[in-house]
Parts: sequence; C-alpha cells; structure tokens
Amino acid sequence: MTFLTHQTSESQTTSATPSVREVRIGTVTIGSGYPVAVQSMTSTDTRDVRATVEQIHRLEEAGCEIVRVAVPDEDAAAVLPEIKKSISIPLVADIHFHHRLALKAIQNGADKVRINPGNIGSEERLKEVARAAQDAGIPLRIGVNAGSLERDIVDKYQGPSARGMVESALRAIHVLEDIDFRNVVVSLKASDIRMTVEANVLFRQECNYPLHLGVTEAGTLRTGLVRSAIGIGSLLFQGIGETFRVSLTADPVEEIKAAWEILRSLRIRSRGPMIIACPTCGRCEVNLLSLVDEVEKALTKVRAPIQVAVMGCVVNGPGEAREADFAIVGGKGQGLIMKKGEVVAKVQEDKLVDALMEEIEKLLPKNRGRIK
Ligand code: SF4
Repeated sequence: MTFLTHQTSESQTTSATPSVREVRIGTVTIGSGYPVAVQSMTSTDTRDVRATVEQIHRLEEAGCEIVRVAVPDEDAAAVLPEIKKSISIPLVADIHFHHRLALKAIQNGADKVRINPGNIGSEERLKEVARAAQDAGIPLRIGVNAGSLERDIVDKYQGPSARGMVESALRAIHVLEDIDFRNVVVSLKASDIRMTVEANVLFRQECNYPLHLGVTEAGTLRTGLVRSAIGIGSLLFQGIGETFRVSLTADPVEEIKAAWEILRSLRIRSRGPMIIACPTCGRCEVNLLSLVDEVEKALTKVRAPIQVAVMGCVVNGPGEAREADFAIVGGKGQGLIMKKGEVVAKVQEDKLVDALMEEIEKLLPKNRGRIK
C-alpha cells in the first residue's frame, strides 16, 4: 500500500494517484492531478428555495466546493433550475428509489446525480438514467450504502460487508460500462468506520473511478467529527479519495469547517488560518477559552493559510509558539504578540486581539488573503 500519495504543500495539493479517472462536476474537476474537493449537503427542505439558497451561500462562503440537495419528489426536482441560477458552485441531486426523479433532475440542470444502486431498481432503469446523463454530459455518483445493499449480495456475504459494498459498486459499473458510460464517481459508505475504510481500499485496488468519501450516520458534532476524521482521514492519508463530505448532525457549515481541518491537518490542502491553542495548565494566566474564541472570530475573514498560536503563559508560551506565523502569549494583565518566533509587542490583555490583527494586516497585501 502506498502512503501519502497526495502531494503535500502549504496551500493546495492534488490527488496524485496517477490512474484515477478525471470527472468534471460543473466547474469542479476531480481525479488525478486535481485538488481533493470539499462537499456538503443542505439540511433545508429543497422545495424551500429561499432557505436552500441561503444555506448554500453560507456553505460557499465557508469553502464548500460542491453542494448536494435531496430530491425526494417532483416538486424538489422542479426547483433545481431556480436554485442553480442563484449559486456559484456545482449542484448535485440526491436521489433514492425513483429513477424518474433522476431523469427529471438531469433535465433540470443538475451537475451530477447521486443514485443508490441498491434501491434505484432494475438494470434498465440505471441504464436509462445513465443515457440521460450521457446526453447532458454530467456524471453519476454510484452511492453504495452498507445498509441498503442488494438482497443477493447481503445473502452472499451473510450481512453487510466491505466486499459486498465493492461488489455492488462493480455491478453497477459493469452495467454502465456496457452502454459505454464511464462518467462515474463512486462512494462506499457505512456507519461502521472499519468497513468504510476497508471497502474504499479494496475498491481502489480494483478500480480507477474517483471516490467520494464519507461515513454515514456519523453522528452529532463531537462523535461525528471524530468518526469522520478517522474514517476519511485515514483514507486520504493513503492517497485514497478525490472528494468527500463530513456528515454531521449539525449546521452543514460545520461540515465544511471540519473538512478543511482534515485537509489542513494532513497537509493536503489549506484554506484560511489555522489556530493552535495550548491545552492550558496550572500556569495559565489568561482566560484562554475566551481569548481563542475572540481570535477565531477576528480571523474569520482572513483567507491566507497562516498559523496563529494562542498560548496561556509567558513561561512556556513563547517557546511553544515559535513555529507559528503569529502568536498571542497571555500574561498577567499584559501579553506578548509574536511574529515568526520574535516578540514584536507587549500589550494590555484587553488589546491583545487588536494588536494581533494589526500585525496580521501588515503582512497581508490589501484585499489579498481576505474574503471578497
Ligand atoms: S503555554 Fe503555559 S499555560 Fe499553556 S500549556 Fe504550556 S505551560 Fe501551560
């Protein structure tokens, strides 16, 4: 197994597995040589265009590159053009069961359609959807879920399994390849993280279609973050995965924040500042939690991939913050502002964040590194 096949660089890297097919989703291309793309899914009622568009705008602002909406009925499929014209990132339609809705979504301008081979119906239906996608020039995602595998596959492997998930995806791929349709992205998701990782590793050994990573039913903010970071992170670390969604039972903007944190932590891509805070201990001389909070808020609009450390005391803080681009080191009543390991100012505790931002602003050319 090859580890870290994604190149690493400070600002942006690409999925470097040379053989992964290229697939274009609207304006975003994934596959060999392209950045790992960050996605999310709206939690609004798709038919409520205003709420859906408003949520997508917040997702775009947070760094979402592809957005998916649920299309549970004809009315949801009918509003896709209206949503699409109001947003600037590719729009994916999520379909379960009804292949007619997939056809409608394609007709209404979806940039990709996600279908579940376990519940879309017969091979003929799958082919009908693929032919429509072919005509529209858009890809399909074959989204395999361990919980909804075809009956015969479940029976063959005596329950949901990684092997069964791969078999389900390959079965759908063969049907599509039969009609020469190869504009395909695959996802293999389970709520069991080991099964998810194993299925994706197995699939990558056998097939070069791009993989969309995710863990289903990842859970609430804390459990979801941990589970997704382990599942998605361990695959990305092996160079597997061309796009992903962190699923959380929370505001989807949190999914985007988490996704960028995973990419940043693995040094695959970065976007915006990274805050490093000391864990605090008995030497802490400031209210570090509120200080970190303030720093985080002040940095929201900065796009540059800088590292900012927030430390709780002058004993070890300066040493531990040495590697960061900027740092605040709290002290009794007064604290230090550091730049590239050097102390550049000593200021009153209540002026620390303003002084930090002043230093950061000096470094960023006007309007560069800032959200438009
Ligand atoms: S920087 Fe200071 S307060 Fe923070 S963990 Fe280190 S010693 Fe403790």
